Amino acid sequence: MAPGTHDDLIVLRPQGLYCPAGDFHIDPWRPVARAVLTHAHADHARAGHTRYLATAASEGVLRTRLGQGIALQGLAYGEAVDVNGVRVSLHPAGHVLGSAQVRVEHRGQVWVASGDFFASGIDGDINATCAPFEPVRCDCFITESTFGLPIYRWRAQAAVLGEINAWWQANADAGRASLLLGYSFGKAQRLLAGLDAAIGLIVCHGAVEALNEVYRAAGVVLPATQRLDAVSKADLKRAIAIAPPAVQGSAWARRLGEHSDAFASGWMQLRGARRRQGVDRGFVLSDHADWPGLQRAIAATGAERVIVTHGYEAVMVRWLQQQGLQAGSFQTQYGDDAAEAAHETP
Ligand SMILES: [Zn+2]
Repeated sequence: MAPGTHDDLIVLRPQGLYCPAGDFHIDPWRPVARAVLTHAHADHARAGHTRYLATAASEGVLRTRLGQGIALQGLAYGEAVDVNGVRVSLHPAGHVLGSAQVRVEHRGQVWVASGDFFASGIDGDINATCAPFEPVRCDCFITESTFGLPIYRWRAQAAVLGEINAWWQANADAGRASLLLGYSFGKAQRLLAGLDAAIGLIVCHGAVEALNEVYRAAGVVLPATQRLDAVSKADLKRAIAIAPPAVQGSAWARRLGEHSDAFASGWMQLRGARRRQGVDRGFVLSDHADWPGLQRAIAATGAERVIVTHGYEAVMVRWLQQQGLQAGSFQTQYGDDAAEAAHETP
Protein backbone atom coordinates (compact mmCIF):
# COMPACT_ATOMS: atom_id res chain seq x y z
CA MET A 1 0.00 0.00 0.00
CA ALA A 2 1.48 3.36 -1.00
CA PRO A 3 1.31 6.36 1.35
CA GLY A 4 -1.86 8.32 0.82
CA THR A 5 -4.54 5.65 0.34
CA HIS A 6 -7.98 6.56 1.63
CA ASP A 7 -8.01 4.60 4.89
CA ASP A 8 -4.58 5.75 6.04
CA LEU A 9 -4.66 7.13 9.57
CA ILE A 10 -2.15 9.88 8.75
CA VAL A 11 -1.69 11.51 5.36
CA LEU A 12 0.30 14.45 4.00
CA ARG A 13 -1.56 17.70 3.38
CA PRO A 14 -0.19 21.10 2.31
CA GLN A 15 -0.39 22.17 5.98
CA GLY A 16 1.53 19.14 7.20
CA LEU A 17 0.83 15.63 8.51
CA TYR A 18 -2.94 15.16 8.94
CA CYS A 19 -5.20 12.59 10.58
CA PRO A 20 -8.46 12.64 8.56
CA ALA A 21 -10.39 10.46 11.05
CA GLY A 22 -9.57 12.77 13.98
CA ASP A 23 -9.41 16.02 11.98
CA PHE A 24 -6.10 17.19 13.46
CA HIS A 25 -2.60 17.90 12.19
CA ILE A 26 0.76 16.84 13.63
CA ASP A 27 3.51 19.51 13.68
CA PRO A 28 1.84 21.49 10.84
CA TRP A 29 3.89 24.20 9.16
CA ARG A 30 0.83 26.28 8.19
CA PRO A 31 -1.90 27.50 10.60
CA VAL A 32 -4.61 24.90 11.37
CA ALA A 33 -7.53 24.49 13.77
CA ARG A 34 -6.02 21.70 15.87
CA ALA A 35 -2.30 20.93 16.10
CA VAL A 36 -0.72 18.05 17.97
CA LEU A 37 2.94 18.94 18.56
CA THR A 38 5.81 16.51 19.06
CA HIS A 39 8.20 19.07 20.59
CA ALA A 40 9.04 22.75 20.92
CA HIS A 41 11.84 23.13 18.33
CA ALA A 42 11.04 25.97 15.94
CA ASP A 43 10.53 23.84 12.81
CA HIS A 44 7.95 21.59 14.53
CA ALA A 45 6.18 24.13 16.76
CA ARG A 46 4.84 27.05 14.76
CA ALA A 47 2.67 29.91 15.94
CA GLY A 48 -0.83 30.61 14.65
CA HIS A 49 -2.76 27.40 15.31
CA THR A 50 -6.15 27.71 17.03
CA ARG A 51 -5.65 24.84 19.49
CA TYR A 52 -2.61 22.88 20.61
CA LEU A 53 -2.12 19.46 22.16
CA ALA A 54 1.38 18.65 23.48
CA THR A 55 3.13 17.12 26.48
CA ALA A 56 2.83 18.96 29.77
CA ALA A 57 6.64 18.77 29.93
CA SER A 58 6.95 20.89 26.78
CA GLU A 59 4.36 23.46 27.87
CA GLY A 60 6.85 25.89 29.44
CA VAL A 61 9.01 26.15 26.31
CA LEU A 62 5.98 26.25 23.99
CA ARG A 63 4.36 29.12 25.87
CA THR A 64 7.65 31.03 26.00
CA ARG A 65 8.10 30.67 22.25
CA LEU A 66 4.51 30.81 20.91
CA GLY A 67 2.80 33.04 23.48
CA GLN A 68 1.67 32.59 27.06
CA GLY A 69 -1.99 32.77 26.00
CA ILE A 70 -2.07 29.95 23.41
CA ALA A 71 -4.90 27.41 23.82
CA LEU A 72 -2.77 24.46 24.88
CA GLN A 73 -3.81 21.17 26.45
CA GLY A 74 -0.87 19.45 28.13
CA LEU A 75 -0.78 15.65 28.43
CA ALA A 76 1.33 13.41 30.63
CA TYR A 77 3.35 10.78 28.75
CA GLY A 78 1.08 7.82 28.02
CA GLU A 79 -2.14 9.69 28.89
CA ALA A 80 -4.74 9.14 26.16
CA VAL A 81 -7.37 11.57 24.94
CA ASP A 82 -10.18 11.14 22.47
CA VAL A 83 -10.02 13.50 19.50
CA ASN A 84 -13.14 13.08 17.35
CA GLY A 85 -13.21 9.35 18.05
CA VAL A 86 -9.47 8.83 17.58
CA ARG A 87 -7.36 7.82 20.59
CA VAL A 88 -4.27 10.04 20.83
CA SER A 89 -1.38 9.66 23.28
CA LEU A 90 2.17 10.99 23.53
CA HIS A 91 5.26 8.88 24.30
CA PRO A 92 8.87 9.87 25.10
CA ALA A 93 11.17 10.56 22.13
CA GLY A 94 14.41 11.22 24.05
CA HIS A 95 15.20 14.29 21.91
CA VAL A 96 14.65 17.37 24.13
CA LEU A 97 12.62 18.23 27.23
CA GLY A 98 9.00 17.23 26.60
CA SER A 99 9.63 15.66 23.18
CA ALA A 100 7.11 13.01 22.15
CA GLN A 101 6.06 10.49 19.56
CA VAL A 102 2.38 10.73 18.67
CA ARG A 103 0.42 7.47 18.89
CA VAL A 104 -2.87 7.45 16.99
CA GLU A 105 -5.35 4.57 17.30
CA HIS A 106 -8.57 4.15 15.33
CA ARG A 107 -10.62 1.08 14.39
CA GLY A 108 -7.90 -1.32 15.52
CA GLN A 109 -5.11 0.41 13.58
CA VAL A 110 -2.18 2.06 15.36
CA TRP A 111 0.10 4.61 13.73
CA VAL A 112 2.98 6.42 15.41
CA ALA A 113 4.59 9.66 14.19
CA SER A 114 8.04 9.93 15.74
CA GLY A 115 8.84 13.63 15.46
CA ASP A 116 12.58 14.05 16.13
CA PHE A 117 13.98 11.32 18.35
CA PHE A 118 17.16 10.07 19.95
CA ALA A 119 16.95 6.32 20.41
CA SER A 120 18.51 6.48 23.84
CA GLY A 121 16.34 3.85 25.47
CA ILE A 122 17.42 1.27 22.92
CA ASP A 123 21.15 1.75 22.49
CA GLY A 124 21.67 2.38 26.20
CA ASP A 125 23.03 5.89 25.75
CA ILE A 126 20.74 8.10 27.79
CA ASN A 127 20.09 11.79 27.23
CA ALA A 128 20.03 12.66 30.94
CA THR A 129 18.06 15.85 30.38
CA CYS A 130 14.79 14.31 29.15
CA ALA A 131 12.68 11.15 29.32
CA PRO A 132 14.33 8.38 27.27
CA PHE A 133 12.88 7.15 23.97
CA GLU A 134 10.29 4.40 24.35
CA PRO A 135 9.49 2.22 21.35
CA VAL A 136 5.74 2.03 20.72
CA ARG A 137 4.26 -0.98 18.90
CA CYS A 138 2.38 0.07 15.79
CA ASP A 139 1.22 -0.96 12.32
CA CYS A 140 2.78 2.06 10.64
CA PHE A 141 5.71 4.13 11.92
CA ILE A 142 6.39 7.59 10.52
CA THR A 143 10.07 8.15 11.23
CA GLU A 144 12.45 11.05 10.96
CA SER A 145 15.70 10.36 9.09
CA THR A 146 17.86 13.43 9.79
CA PHE A 147 20.99 11.28 10.06
CA GLY A 148 19.70 8.36 7.98
CA LEU A 149 22.97 7.50 6.22
CA PRO A 150 25.37 4.68 7.17
CA ILE A 151 28.19 7.20 7.83
CA TYR A 152 26.34 8.47 10.91
CA ARG A 153 27.28 6.30 13.87
CA TRP A 154 27.57 8.11 17.16
CA ARG A 155 30.24 7.23 19.68
CA ALA A 156 29.16 6.79 23.30
CA GLN A 157 28.27 10.22 24.63
CA ALA A 158 30.39 9.67 27.76
CA ALA A 159 33.47 9.54 25.50
CA VAL A 160 32.46 12.74 23.70
CA LEU A 161 31.69 14.56 26.95
CA GLY A 162 35.05 13.35 28.29
CA GLU A 163 36.77 14.95 25.29
CA ILE A 164 34.89 18.19 25.89
CA ASN A 165 36.00 18.28 29.53
CA ALA A 166 39.60 17.49 28.52
CA TRP A 167 39.53 20.36 25.98
CA TRP A 168 38.12 22.71 28.66
CA GLN A 169 40.77 21.57 31.18
CA ALA A 170 43.59 22.16 28.67
CA ASN A 171 42.29 25.66 27.92
CA ALA A 172 41.95 26.43 31.63
CA ASP A 173 45.53 25.23 32.24
CA ALA A 174 46.68 27.57 29.44
CA GLY A 175 44.78 30.49 31.01
CA ARG A 176 42.18 30.97 28.27
CA ALA A 177 38.40 30.69 28.28
CA SER A 178 36.46 27.99 26.39
CA LEU A 179 33.47 28.89 24.21
CA LEU A 180 31.26 25.88 23.48
CA LEU A 181 28.60 26.51 20.84
CA GLY A 182 25.37 24.47 20.72
CA TYR A 183 21.67 25.06 20.10
CA SER A 184 20.15 26.74 23.12
CA PHE A 185 17.15 24.41 23.50
CA GLY A 186 18.17 20.85 24.24
CA LYS A 187 21.80 20.64 23.15
CA ALA A 188 23.01 23.31 25.57
CA GLN A 189 21.39 21.59 28.56
CA ARG A 190 22.73 18.19 27.53
CA LEU A 191 26.23 19.67 27.34
CA LEU A 192 25.78 21.38 30.70
CA ALA A 193 24.70 18.15 32.37
CA GLY A 194 27.92 16.52 31.18
CA LEU A 195 30.40 19.23 32.21
CA ASP A 196 32.89 18.72 35.03
CA ALA A 197 32.15 21.76 37.20
CA ALA A 198 35.39 21.21 39.17
CA ILE A 199 37.40 22.66 36.25
CA GLY A 200 36.03 26.20 36.51
CA LEU A 201 32.96 28.42 36.34
CA ILE A 202 30.23 27.76 33.76
CA VAL A 203 28.92 30.85 31.99
CA CYS A 204 25.68 30.76 29.97
CA HIS A 205 24.45 33.14 27.30
CA GLY A 206 21.02 34.64 28.09
CA ALA A 207 19.30 32.59 25.37
CA VAL A 208 20.62 29.40 26.99
CA GLU A 209 19.94 30.50 30.57
CA ALA A 210 16.26 31.19 29.77
CA LEU A 211 15.89 27.52 28.78
CA ASN A 212 18.02 26.31 31.70
CA GLU A 213 15.39 27.82 33.98
CA VAL A 214 12.63 25.84 32.24
CA TYR A 215 14.67 22.62 32.57
CA ARG A 216 15.38 23.24 36.26
CA ALA A 217 11.70 24.00 36.88
CA ALA A 218 10.94 20.60 35.30
CA GLY A 219 13.28 18.89 37.79
CA VAL A 220 16.30 18.39 35.51
CA VAL A 221 19.53 18.76 37.50
CA LEU A 222 22.01 21.13 35.85
CA PRO A 223 25.26 22.52 37.33
CA ALA A 224 25.38 26.09 38.66
CA THR A 225 25.67 28.66 35.87
CA GLN A 226 26.73 32.32 35.79
CA ARG A 227 25.87 35.35 33.68
CA LEU A 228 28.89 36.67 31.79
CA ASP A 229 28.78 40.09 33.50
CA ALA A 230 28.92 38.45 36.94
CA VAL A 231 32.29 36.76 36.33
CA SER A 232 35.67 38.44 36.95
CA LYS A 233 38.35 38.58 34.22
CA ALA A 234 40.53 36.30 36.34
CA ASP A 235 37.79 33.65 36.68
CA LEU A 236 37.01 33.83 32.95
CA LYS A 237 40.46 32.41 32.18
CA ARG A 238 39.34 29.05 33.62
CA ALA A 239 35.66 29.30 32.62
CA ILE A 240 33.61 27.63 29.90
CA ALA A 241 30.84 29.57 28.17
CA ILE A 242 27.82 27.85 26.58
CA ALA A 243 26.15 29.86 23.83
CA PRO A 244 24.13 29.43 20.62
CA PRO A 245 26.16 29.26 17.38
CA ALA A 246 25.03 32.75 16.36
CA VAL A 247 27.26 34.38 19.01
CA GLN A 248 30.40 33.27 17.16
CA GLY A 249 32.44 36.42 16.47
CA SER A 250 29.96 38.67 18.31
CA ALA A 251 30.65 41.34 20.93
CA TRP A 252 29.44 38.83 23.55
CA ALA A 253 32.12 36.34 22.48
CA ARG A 254 34.84 39.03 22.49
CA ARG A 255 34.02 39.82 26.12
CA LEU A 256 35.36 36.37 27.00
CA GLY A 257 38.86 37.64 26.16
CA GLU A 258 41.33 35.14 24.75
CA HIS A 259 39.43 31.91 24.15
CA SER A 260 39.23 28.68 22.18
CA ASP A 261 35.92 27.84 20.52
CA ALA A 262 34.16 24.57 19.65
CA PHE A 263 30.86 23.44 18.15
CA ALA A 264 28.87 20.41 19.33
CA SER A 265 26.57 18.89 16.69
CA GLY A 266 25.90 15.69 14.79
CA TRP A 267 26.99 17.56 11.67
CA MET A 268 30.54 17.74 13.03
CA GLN A 269 30.93 14.16 11.77
CA LEU A 270 30.99 15.49 8.20
CA ARG A 271 34.44 15.99 6.74
CA GLY A 272 35.25 19.70 6.62
CA ALA A 273 32.34 20.76 8.85
CA ARG A 274 34.57 22.06 11.63
CA ARG A 275 36.65 24.11 9.20
CA ARG A 276 33.54 25.53 7.48
CA GLN A 277 32.14 26.49 10.87
CA GLY A 278 35.43 28.23 11.60
CA VAL A 279 35.90 26.77 15.09
CA ASP A 280 38.96 25.29 16.78
CA ARG A 281 37.25 22.02 17.70
CA GLY A 282 34.19 20.04 16.59
CA PHE A 283 32.48 17.56 18.91
CA VAL A 284 30.09 15.02 17.38
CA LEU A 285 27.07 15.06 19.69
CA SER A 286 23.56 14.79 18.31
CA ASP A 287 20.07 14.70 19.79
CA HIS A 288 18.88 12.63 16.81
CA ALA A 289 19.17 8.89 16.25
CA ASP A 290 22.12 7.75 14.16
CA TRP A 291 21.83 5.13 11.37
CA PRO A 292 21.91 2.08 13.69
CA GLY A 293 19.65 3.89 16.18
CA LEU A 294 17.05 4.57 13.48
CA GLN A 295 17.15 0.94 12.39
CA ARG A 296 16.79 -0.40 15.93
CA ALA A 297 13.99 2.04 16.72
CA ILE A 298 12.06 1.07 13.60
CA ALA A 299 12.50 -2.64 14.31
CA ALA A 300 11.34 -2.18 17.91
CA THR A 301 7.99 -0.78 16.76
CA GLY A 302 7.17 -4.03 14.96
CA ALA A 303 5.69 -1.89 12.17
CA GLU A 304 5.24 -3.55 8.79
CA ARG A 305 4.94 -0.21 7.09
CA VAL A 306 7.30 2.75 7.53
CA ILE A 307 7.01 6.27 6.16
CA VAL A 308 10.22 8.28 6.20
CA THR A 309 10.10 12.05 6.61
CA HIS A 310 12.84 14.67 6.91
CA GLY A 311 16.43 13.72 6.22
CA TYR A 312 17.95 11.22 3.84
CA GLU A 313 14.61 9.65 2.88
CA ALA A 314 15.65 7.81 -0.29
CA VAL A 315 18.52 5.88 1.32
CA MET A 316 16.41 4.87 4.30
CA VAL A 317 13.41 3.86 2.16
CA ARG A 318 15.62 1.65 0.00
CA TRP A 319 17.13 -0.02 3.07
CA LEU A 320 13.67 -0.64 4.59
CA GLN A 321 12.40 -2.18 1.37
CA GLN A 322 15.42 -4.47 1.35
CA GLN A 323 14.31 -5.65 4.80
CA GLY A 324 10.95 -6.63 3.33
CA LEU A 325 8.99 -3.72 4.81
CA GLN A 326 6.52 -1.50 3.01
CA ALA A 327 8.28 1.86 2.88
CA GLY A 328 7.54 5.26 1.43
CA SER A 329 8.24 8.88 2.25
CA PHE A 330 6.51 12.15 3.00
CA GLN A 331 8.13 15.37 1.84
CA THR A 332 7.87 17.47 4.99
CA GLN A 333 9.13 20.95 5.77
CA TYR A 334 11.01 20.05 8.94
CA GLY A 335 14.63 21.09 9.07
CA ASP A 336 17.65 19.55 10.70
CA ASP A 337 19.32 20.84 13.84
CA ALA A 338 20.36 23.90 11.86
CA ALA A 339 16.74 24.99 11.45
CA GLU A 340 16.69 25.60 15.17
CA ALA A 341 19.62 27.99 14.86
CA ALA A 342 17.59 30.29 12.60
CA HIS A 343 15.26 30.79 15.57
CA GLU A 344 18.05 31.95 17.85
CA THR A 345 19.22 35.49 18.31
CA PRO A 346 22.49 36.19 20.09
ZN1 LIG B 1 13.92 18.85 17.17
